[in-house]
Amino acid sequence: MKIGFIGLGNMGGPMAANLVKAGHDVTGFDVAGVTVKGAAAAHSAAEAATGAEVVITMLPNGKILRAVADEIIPAMQKGAVFLDCSTVDVESARDVAAQAQKAGLSALDAPVSGGIGGAEGGTLTFMIGGDEAGLDIAAPLFEIMGQKAVHCGPSGNGQAAKICNNMILGATMIVTCEAFALADKLGLDRQAMFDVVSTSSGYSWSMNAYCPAPGIGPKSPADNDYKPGFAAELMLKDLGLAQTAAETADADTPLGARALELYRAFVEKEDGKGRDFSAMLPRFEGRGRG
Ligand code: NAD
Repeated sequence: MKIGFIGLGNMGGPMAANLVKAGHDVTGFDVAGVTVKGAAAAHSAAEAATGAEVVITMLPNGKILRAVADEIIPAMQKGAVFLDCSTVDVESARDVAAQAQKAGLSALDAPVSGGIGGAEGGTLTFMIGGDEAGLDIAAPLFEIMGQKAVHCGPSGNGQAAKICNNMILGATMIVTCEAFALADKLGLDRQAMFDVVSTSSGYSWSMNAYCPAPGIGPKSPADNDYKPGFAAELMLKDLGLAQTAAETADADTPLGARALELYRAFVEKEDGKGRDFSAMLPRFEGRGRG
């Protein structure tokens, strides 16, 4: 398949490399001048999109996605698929999809979970919003770049699924870290706490698969000095998108809002920037109620 790939950063670079490895004809573009081995290098986003059957974007935010969409939609051939894998606000995803459909294209929003490791290993999970026609064309590409693709409904629903998931993740990680810090102060051994909670009703992915306490549970960023993994600033971004969506939809999300405040303070005022999002545990450890 002839594929244009725009945004070759931490995630987009390895995703594009996997498509090249699978034998697809990939033309890449990134404003930072990054290239991917085996992919042709375009001089602009429009050039990467010209003549492609599928154009994949993997960009930092909705504002940049909108700017890139304005540039590439007129350059894309009718019937081609505009496949955005970035994490962006639901409104940008829906607007860009409408703009693409008006120009005779298929549009899919397909944000991912699985991080850089998943992008490199081709084991991402895709959460997809958009039309069946586009999905039929792009399906083989999801199989190369990922291990699971869930169709969540019409345009924007992929982004909706992603931010709801990450709102749960952020709030759950915070309360798991709080509970470890409380257990410490109550004299409860961390291993005992893990053994109980991981097999009781307090269990979660944060506790069982990504335990924030070093030396406890399976290997996680806590065992590597909280090097990300999933950086606190990416969690902050996703919690911000969740609150923007909640405001637009008039949804009451008090824990999501509090999780956003805590990650904002952690990243912007404390030492959270550049650390894994589970480094909330040492943050709570060092604090009292005051
Ligand atoms: P990144 O900053 O490493 O990559 C983004 C790339 O886009 C950069 O290389 C940048 O130069 C390029 N870019 C910016 N503006 C551009 C433009 N106008 N035209 C072409 N290229 C442009 O970020 P990333 O970690 O690869 O994340 C990409 C997206 O995936 C984000 O939306 C992020 O939220 C999401 N995501 C990231 C992770 C993760 O663990 N890194 C996990 C899940 C989802």
